[in-house]
Amino acid sequence: MSTLEVEDLTAGYGDARVLHGIGLTVGEGEICAILGPNGAGKTTLLRALSGMIKARGRVRLGGTDLAGRSPDALARQGIAHVPEGRGTFMPLTVEENLRLGAFVRRGRDGVNADIERIHGYFPVLKDRMKQAAGSLSGGEQQMLAIGRALMSRPRLLLLDEPSLGLAPLVTRELFRIVQAINAEEQTTVVVVEQNAHLALGIAQQAHVLETGRIVLSGTAEQIRADEQVAQSYLGYR
Ligand code: ATP
Repeated sequence: MSTLEVEDLTAGYGDARVLHGIGLTVGEGEICAILGPNGAGKTTLLRALSGMIKARGRVRLGGTDLAGRSPDALARQGIAHVPEGRGTFMPLTVEENLRLGAFVRRGRDGVNADIERIHGYFPVLKDRMKQAAGSLSGGEQQMLAIGRALMSRPRLLLLDEPSLGLAPLVTRELFRIVQAINAEEQTTVVVVEQNAHLALGIAQQAHVLETGRIVLSGTAEQIRADEQVAQSYLGYR
């Protein structure tokens, strides 16, 4: 089970509180899009969920209470975070980056099979295994970052602005692959994305965050149909 339940989540930096009582539920195997203007707290929400920053409130994944756990413990519980800027190790090869992604797993069993599985999603990485990650294009680096996250066999995948800096064609391909991963592995996905069209295109549900609070929630269709969202994030009406 990998339903994500978040209740009354509060987080920030030092004395500055950024998130104020966030509540949301993402059903097992669903994709949830988080939309909102710059500075709304979207990245902070993902950081709180993966334990990168301390948060108060309740977070459960598959019914297990995860509040207050360390990033390592959360990774072992199946939470994988692909941060904005991707977080790949540039001097290391593609293969080394992928193998590092398996570090949270107890056994080494199946690592090679998982690398093959990731090549299935991202064939371009197969041809680049011995290359330094830093020599990859932006799109390939994003694929590597997602591939590395998949090496931990996550139950919950947190994606922060996967489209950042990528050409529209590359972004569309990336979102298609995220959708395939979600469909094939039943991985629950929370995606923060400026490109609301794309995010709503793959998500079942979405939340709009403004100044650290959820101001609108609904199915992707409901959010797309909202007048305010259309004006602010979809660029029409
Ligand atoms: P963007 O799309 O611009 O990344 P966002 O919705 O992801 O926006 P956050 O990055 O979560 O927003 O930022 C929310 C607030 O937290 C902002 O006011 C930001 O200045 C502040 N903030 C973000 N990171 C830090 C940090 N490391 N230290 C202090 N304040 C931070």
